[in-house]
Amino acid sequence: MIQKDKIVILGAGESGAGAAVLAKKQGFDVFVSDMSSIKDKYKELLNKHHIEWEEGKHSEELILNAGEVIKSPGIPDKAPIIQKLKALNTPIISEIEFAGRYTNAKTICITGSNGKTTTTMLTYHILKSAGLNVGLAGNVGDSFALQVAENNFDYYVIELSSFQLDNMYDFRADISILLNITPDHLDRYDYQMQNYVDSKMRILQNQTASDAFIYWNDDPIVSQEVAKRNPQMQLFPFAEEKKANVKAYTENKQIIIETPKGNFTMEEELLALTGTHNLYNSLASGIAAKLMDIKNEDIRKSLSDFKGVEHRLEKVARVRGVQYINDSKATNVNSCWYALQSMTTPVVLILGGTDKGNDYSEIENLVKEKCHTLIFMGVDNSKLHQFFDGKVAHIIDTNSMEDAVKQAYKIAKKGDTVLLSPCCASFDLFKNYEDRGEQFKYYVRRL
Ligand code: ADP
Repeated sequence: MIQKDKIVILGAGESGAGAAVLAKKQGFDVFVSDMSSIKDKYKELLNKHHIEWEEGKHSEELILNAGEVIKSPGIPDKAPIIQKLKALNTPIISEIEFAGRYTNAKTICITGSNGKTTTTMLTYHILKSAGLNVGLAGNVGDSFALQVAENNFDYYVIELSSFQLDNMYDFRADISILLNITPDHLDRYDYQMQNYVDSKMRILQNQTASDAFIYWNDDPIVSQEVAKRNPQMQLFPFAEEKKANVKAYTENKQIIIETPKGNFTMEEELLALTGTHNLYNSLASGIAAKLMDIKNEDIRKSLSDFKGVEHRLEKVARVRGVQYINDSKATNVNSCWYALQSMTTPVVLILGGTDKGNDYSEIENLVKEKCHTLIFMGVDNSKLHQFFDGKVAHIIDTNSMEDAVKQAYKIAKKGDTVLLSPCCASFDLFKNYEDRGEQFKYYVRRL
């Protein structure tokens, strides 16, 4: 028998634990189930709120009678428990969808294949520094649901992955930002690019004429989708150069943003974040801030004093004239492309890991132009060999960070950059990309 007031939460990570607390507060009968083990801090949170949970299994008799299920973004649709719930027509939603029901705060939602965290943190930094009562949510910091349960923010800046968007239906963003769409996570989308594209475009669903959509004008996929969908909300495309309809761009070394709330200008050189990709991120955040009525002087200050985000083109150290850069968060080919593009010295590139259906031809020219050495670092480097063998002067195989850093140190010459920008997920050798980046920094600092 389905119990209408029962909410089951699958996956007790940051989003699941937060959703459980909010659901409990809203008076639902709540049960949390996680196939793996639950971190102690989340167990404590659930216990504190008297929420029942299980780990290491999914007890069907406690799950299949749910009126609604909140699924962690990490659980794929093909998981047997999800298939069973689908067969029962049980509504399955994401934590963001659920939390959105219980707040009237204005939301700025950010998605894209690359640049989400950077743009989310930057936008949050601008709003917070300007004194707004604003929360930071999504893939970064505390979950949206926990903050809705425990705080009273007027605004939220929310990072949204495609997996979260997949289970969002009625949620509406006041301001949406779509940075770019390039192939990623195709293993979760039946290897069909259009499925992934459709997922990203869900950021627009439910937006009305009074809402805003900020996007990169020169992304071929995004512009094609915008043309196809004839969206009704206010459009704010941005690009490197001025073009018809583009609302934010650079001209004569200035960045210029034009909105109905007034214009904004700033010297490009003063931007804290460097590289073309970060120019885009700064333009997107700048438009959002302008639409939120933040004063130009405040936007200018925050765009120039932002500290950047760990593991994203993070300068680690200079050792014997060689710069070491940690870009561990480059988990797909496109983000590595931007990293290489921003390099101004010869490069020793460390790459490899769990391949997500990568096509390395995207970085072939930049690799040939800038890299004298590739260091492959993975359990299985064969696909990298197939593609790169014969195309670069030196190729070295490694299967640990310690060895990769040691080999890089041996071969790098004064004036070079050693760049960790792996193009791949990290799960073959590391817990996650943070662990990979931490290990890189650890071994570099011991050189
Ligand atoms: P996400 O949260 O979407 O994974 P991050 O801000 O964490 O994005 O950055 C991930 C990687 O992508 C980093 O290697 C970063 O240098 C690169 N990157 C950042 N912004 C962009 C962008 N607008 N376009 C392409 N690559 C980007």
